[in-house]
This record gives sequence, structure tokens and C-alpha cells, in this order.
Amino acid sequence: MHAEIIAIGTELVLGATVDTNSAYLAQQLATIGVPVRRVTLVGDELEEIVAALRQAMARAPLVICSGGLGPTSDDLTRAAIAEATGRPLIFHQTLLDDIAARFAAFKRPMSASNRQQAHVPEGAYIIRNPRGTAPAFVAERDGRYVAALPGVPQELRYLTEHALLPYLRQHHGLAEVLLVREVHAAGLTEAEASERLGDLMPGVNPIVGISAKRGQYTIRIAARGTGRDDAERLIAPVLAAIQERLAGFLLDEETLEQRVGRLLTERGARLTVIENDPAAPAFRAISATAAGRRAIRQAIIQTDLPLEESYESTARRLAHLADPRESSTARLVALIEPGDASMRNVHVALGTPHSEEPRYATRGVDFGLPDAHDFVATMALDLLRRWLESSAHDSPAPQR
Ligand code: ATP
Ligand code: MG
Repeated sequence: MHAEIIAIGTELVLGATVDTNSAYLAQQLATIGVPVRRVTLVGDELEEIVAALRQAMARAPLVICSGGLGPTSDDLTRAAIAEATGRPLIFHQTLLDDIAARFAAFKRPMSASNRQQAHVPEGAYIIRNPRGTAPAFVAERDGRYVAALPGVPQELRYLTEHALLPYLRQHHGLAEVLLVREVHAAGLTEAEASERLGDLMPGVNPIVGISAKRGQYTIRIAARGTGRDDAERLIAPVLAAIQERLAGFLLDEETLEQRVGRLLTERGARLTVIENDPAAPAFRAISATAAGRRAIRQAIIQTDLPLEESYESTARRLAHLADPRESSTARLVALIEPGDASMRNVHVALGTPHSEEPRYATRGVDFGLPDAHDFVATMALDLLRRWLESSAHDSPAPQR
């Protein structure tokens, strides 16, 4: 089975909103073995939508529509699908009750036009929507299926994962399972990562994909099998190869934030964080988990830190613990060299109990990129991780 997607909304055709729903849907359908052959964008005009539906239904056994399920007069998807499938719209009191309950929960009056949303084409499979007002549905004509999902990306995603994909798997004989395993890695450059994994990438089953974000990598291994065990069997050797090649950089199923948070708790570590950038990337990354928040004793953000001969020596000095033997709180320093240039050096240093010399790392970061601060955060987290994972720290802190 293959599918087509029709994304409905004048804002999409005008380019005012980028159509992210289709990209998402195409990825999700691929996970149940349904390739998407064509994506169509169409404005909020009844004849246009009906024509797009008829053409798509002539080519594909499954057509998924996004958007246009709202209560206003430019929300025409229901009517268009009714026309294209030759099924009249039928009112469902239970759907209106759902909508009324949602308005009541928000303490907002329901308007008369919301009644429109309680109509679905006759005989359609109805998907109730706990995340919004518009129910979704799957209508049918001559063995061709047309699904309608709300346009709000968060609602569309929820209903796709919780209702549409399970429905397609059950009712359309998509018995093959697709198993996806994700592992995270950090601490090496994108070039190094893809060099190490390059020859695993062109696989067909399993498929290995790597996506980079903020200097962290997510490696997805997707295998299609006749059952879960079969898919597991296909994934195992590929996973083993990845584990071998990325040894020391692999976080398995945790993200770097989660790993650091867990280790901070396990080691009972405490932190002082010192930064010179008001965005406080290191502090924000560590405090992204509850465990990280518990570990932080003090955070200092000072944009005019007195500079020594270099940023490196300043970072090292600030990270230096007055008495490493007495101290139980590590000092993490993240300094970004100020200036107008987009390429700027970042210095992170970590002074830890029982060690005289702070750990230190530096690299250039392109602050022309929107996620530049995330790279700083990743550098800081990685330095923390290396310390927390090092065996030297396994010795318990002296109690006094
Ligand atoms: P509602 O029931 O909330 O009115 P709807 O099904 O009518 O939902 P739309 O009114 O078309 O959906 O869109 C709702 C919101 O979702 C808008 O902000 C719109 O820009 C956004 N949206 C719609 N389609 C897409 C899409 N294909 N990709 C990304 N965003 C979208
Ligand atoms: Mg719309």
C-alpha cells in the first residue's frame, strides 16, 4: 500500500505557514511500511480540495488530509471529503458532547458553528480528539480510504500516533512491524561520527540514520520484520557495530542531559556554575533535568568577569577549587569570548574535588548559527559526563 498526502490551508499555499505536517506524516507512514508517493498543497477552496482529492484517490489507495477541520467557513475538508467519497455528512451527538465538554473544561462558551465539527461522512471510522475540538475520521469509497486530521501540528501528531497508525495497522493488514531503536552519542564532531558509521548508512533493512543537533547525535536503526523478534534480530548486529565504533561516545538511550543528571545524582555531586554569557547555556542545560537542578548549589552569571592573560587561564582559575581535598562541590566554568565576529572561542573548565588541575576543553563555535549556545551547553555537559564517568571519582567523598 502507498499513500498520498493533501495539506489543506491557504496559508500553506501562500507560504505564510510551512507545511511541516506532511513531512511528519510521511515519516510516520514509513514506519508502518507505507511509502508516500506525492504531497499536494491546496488552499481553502472547496472545488480545489475536491479536485485534489479525486486525483489523489485515483492514484493511491490511501489519502491523508491535514487541516481545514475547524469550525469556520473556510474549514472545508469535511464537505470536500463528503463530496469526493459520495457520502453525506452525518451529525453525531457524541461528537458534539465531546466538543461541549472541552469548552466546558476551558470555561469558554461553545459557538453554534462548532456543531459543524460534529459532522462526519456517512460510514466513516471516527477518531475522537482529546487534544482539540475537531474529531478526525477515515472515509471510504470503492476501497479507497481518505483520512482527515486537524491542521494544528500538535493535535495531528497526537492523533496520528495514538489512533491513525494503530487503525491502519489493524484494519489494513499492515502486519509487518517496523522496529526503531534510537541511541544517542555526544563528544565527537559530525564528520568523525559519520566517518565511523558511514558504511552502515546505505543499508535497506535495517536503515541507519544519523541526525545531529547541538553537537549531540541521534542514531536511528529501523528494521522491518515479520514480527518483533524478527526485527530485533535484524537490529542486533547493526547495534553491536555502532556500539563498538562509538565506544566512549555512546549514551545509549539517554540524552546527554539525562545521562549527566543521572550520574550527578548517583555520585551525589554538587555544582557551582560560572558563566559570562547572559544566555547561561551551561546552567540551562544542567537544570533541564530535575536531577541536574538538585545538584546545582550556585550559579553565577557575570558578563564582565575580570580577565587574566587569556580566557583559558581565566576559565581554569575560576574552576580551581581553593582546597580540592576539602571541597565537595565541583566548579563548572563556561566562557564565551565576547566580540562581534561570528566565530568565537568557547572555553569550558571543570574543577573537581580531589583533583588539583581543572579539566578543560575549548573549541570555536559559529555564533551566526541559531543553536550556537547549544554547542556550548554540549561542551559543558560532555566535560561533566567525562568526569562523572571517570573511575577516579568512584572513591567516595570524604565525610566531615
Ligand atoms: P482547528 O480545528 O484548530 O481549526 P484545523 O483542522 O481547521 O484546526 P487549520 O485551521 O487549517 O486546522 O490550521 C490550524 C493551525 O495549524 C494553523 O495555525 C495552521 O497554520 C497550522 N497548520 C495547518 N496546516 C499545517 C501544516 N500542514 N503544517 C504546519 N502547520 C499547519
Ligand atoms: Mg485552515
